[in-house]
Amino acid sequence: MRRPFIAGNWKMYKTLSEARAFAEQFKEIYVKNDIRVAVCAPYTHLAVLCEAFKGTGIAVGAQNMHFEDEGAFTGEVSANVLKEIGVLYCIIGHSERRQYFAETDESVNKKLHKAFEKGLLPILCIGETLAEREAGKEHDVVRGQLTADLQGLSCSQIAELTIAYEPIWAIGTGKTATPQQANEMCGFIRDVIEELYDDKAACEVTVQYGGSVKPSNATEIMNMEEIDGALVGGASLNPFDFLEIINF
Ligand code: PGA
Repeated sequence: MRRPFIAGNWKMYKTLSEARAFAEQFKEIYVKNDIRVAVCAPYTHLAVLCEAFKGTGIAVGAQNMHFEDEGAFTGEVSANVLKEIGVLYCIIGHSERRQYFAETDESVNKKLHKAFEKGLLPILCIGETLAEREAGKEHDVVRGQLTADLQGLSCSQIAELTIAYEPIWAIGTGKTATPQQANEMCGFIRDVIEELYDDKAACEVTVQYGGSVKPSNATEIMNMEEIDGALVGGASLNPFDFLEIINF
């Protein structure tokens, strides 16, 4: 049985002192329930957040990782480091990393393998551009990303995977995909997983929607049948907005 999963993606927002203030405030208002919750923050804030959220049921995630265990990779952070400080999730292949930092399906695939090997739970981001949707190619794009990104992963790994469908045209633009568009694509993602794996994997994989999710549209999105959760950018920066989304 899939549990709803709401993850915040802070991107490159918040200083460390702002992150501490968020954690203090959020802990006061958050009441643990059946919904999985995670905050994905900049690397420098992760240890502090892991400590602050200990015992609260709020998990901490990174926004990227390297696919090697260690080595001469200046500026990179390994899965071992994340694991040691208590990080549970890692966003992999966010469209901003694909667009600005040369992330490819090949590196995404290597990172997914490494994350599972080290016991991190990946949140794989996929989604089409506006031009691709307008050309009617959104299903081909999503199928292509899934096929390439998931290569070599096992059924049991897929059961632990979260896939965030984030149409690039809806990220940070205030332009949300309609709940029907989001639901349709999340259902399609499950169909592709069934083709690539089996119906058990398709049934167990968690599929989130991401792109301008906010308190005012969270209920409608979360009530769609194929949508198990949300990856929330801007609205996760404010503890009260984030809480409202979690309590959709
Ligand atoms: P947004 O970002 O909610 O600010 O649109 C979502 C994301 O990029 O994960």
